Amino acid sequence: MKRNNSNAVASERIEILERNLLHELGIDNDWAEKQARVALRIALHSRVSIPYSLRQLFCRNCKQFIIPGKTSRVRTGRSRSKAVRITCLKCMHVYRKMMFPCRPR
Ligand SMILES: [Zn+2]
Repeated sequence: MKRNNSNAVASERIEILERNLLHELGIDNDWAEKQARVALRIALHSRVSIPYSLRQLFCRNCKQFIIPGKTSRVRTGRSRSKAVRITCLKCMHVYRKMMFPCRPR
């Protein structure tokens, strides 16, 4: 079948789900989690890349749904390191995420 076409549909569906869940975050977190899981499943089945805003909502260690500022702690390290530390408050796993600074020219 046409793989390209189905991928386009999948990424469109993910986009819609992503938009909805980011809107619901903080209002109805259970609903947001359901949306996120559906979006993730579509992404994994259709092999399209998971958008960053969706990926960061899942713990890298326990794969649980984490809400930045609520069930995960996001901290910048020492001023020199260009990374943020993300702590999952469900499994207390800490991982680093590199930040690539965009400097205005
Ligand atoms: Zn975790």
